[in-house]
Amino acid sequence: MHISEHIMGIRLNFNEVIALRTLAYGMSGTDIMEIQAMLRKINYNIGPIDGVFGAQTRSAVQRFQRRFGLTPDGIIGPATWPVMERFLLGYDLYAVRSGNTVYGIAQAYGTSVQAILTANPDIDPNRLSVGRQLIIPYGFPVVDTNISYTYEVFQRDVQGLKARYPFIETGLAGQSVLGKDLTYLRLGTGSNEVFYNASHHALEWITTPVLMKFIEDFAFSYSRGQSLGSGYNPADIWQRSSLYFIPMVNPDGINLVLDGLSPDNPYYSRLIEWNGGSSNFSTVWQANIQGVDLNHNYNAAWEQSKQAEEQLGITGPGPTRYSGTAPESEPESRAVADFTRNHDFRLVMAYHSQGEVIYWDFMNLAPPEGRSIGEEFSRESGYLLDIAEGVASYAGYKDWFIQDWRRPGYTIEVGRGRNPLPISQFNSIYARNLNMLLLSSII
Ligand SMILES: [Zn+2]
Repeated sequence: MHISEHIMGIRLNFNEVIALRTLAYGMSGTDIMEIQAMLRKINYNIGPIDGVFGAQTRSAVQRFQRRFGLTPDGIIGPATWPVMERFLLGYDLYAVRSGNTVYGIAQAYGTSVQAILTANPDIDPNRLSVGRQLIIPYGFPVVDTNISYTYEVFQRDVQGLKARYPFIETGLAGQSVLGKDLTYLRLGTGSNEVFYNASHHALEWITTPVLMKFIEDFAFSYSRGQSLGSGYNPADIWQRSSLYFIPMVNPDGINLVLDGLSPDNPYYSRLIEWNGGSSNFSTVWQANIQGVDLNHNYNAAWEQSKQAEEQLGITGPGPTRYSGTAPESEPESRAVADFTRNHDFRLVMAYHSQGEVIYWDFMNLAPPEGRSIGEEFSRESGYLLDIAEGVASYAGYKDWFIQDWRRPGYTIEVGRGRNPLPISQFNSIYARNLNMLLLSSII
């Protein structure tokens, strides 16, 4: 990628998405991993993307700083962050100068005319007015599929996608216990409404970038008039259907798993108690921040889910399978349920990991097409069609949807291994889900 410095350096008003800490040599964290992935995207050699601010990362940061006229101290502080943030978001804001052409701007930024026209649908490329502010998408994808996908990454990606593809509708479905946004995204304007959600379970965060990458690929193909997957036509789908996504149902739990427990977490001491005295949540914590398993918190055989707790030795809030004090007791499950009630979904898919299985029924309540559509999904993905048994079959989102709507509802268990699945599985998971996601929007 080639970016000429003279065109950069115009600092316009970005929304500050997330307050960012100063990063320096010797530190580690998911934010450093995000920076490393970004630096690699713009062709800096940073070594492995490991979230550790080592010598290679520092040297890459210094080269970045020199390139953009910053003091090359190797520290990502208040001066360097805003410049890096554009690349994290995947776009810059540029005020048109006299003599500029869209082609010239695209060349200077290493991006395409098409990308600029998509991001700025109301400009006349032959009559750029001086001073007019343009969104300039960089020539690389927004959604990273090789890093820990925290809430902050998610929110930046939502903003980045929305900027590049203004036809994506975004909004708020609710907020988590700790006040994080439960953002929804929508593709399409058709009357056939379908719904995808992911990451009810904190350890299963890999399912969030699956949906986000799908949104990006769909939006890109749609904007270019290209087909996607095995010959699906995004423009047709756009007319026929509205695809709704809540890609991160449990942001508090995900950040607990990925970033660890911060001393300023209002649940700090309770979380350690609920976690059996351990402050390591990274391999065990599925619940939300109040220790409620969100996929056991819907009003479908919720009492059975509650009764099963005793056999499982669950006496209260904890890492997994505590159903809460009542159905929809949690703001996250209530938001997803409200979102469902406020629409008319013909079909829903709840993304989980792992097992490469599609669950399609609940207490024999699924309509006949629930199975036949499931068989088609199974063919597209190679995942086994199955029926959940025992405690896993109570009070989940798809259970509740099937029970109350008698329409097709699915739990998709992606990947294989032990949760949390390594992000290195992303590409193979995505490859198996792309056609199924497309098919589900029109079937
Ligand atoms: Zn799950």
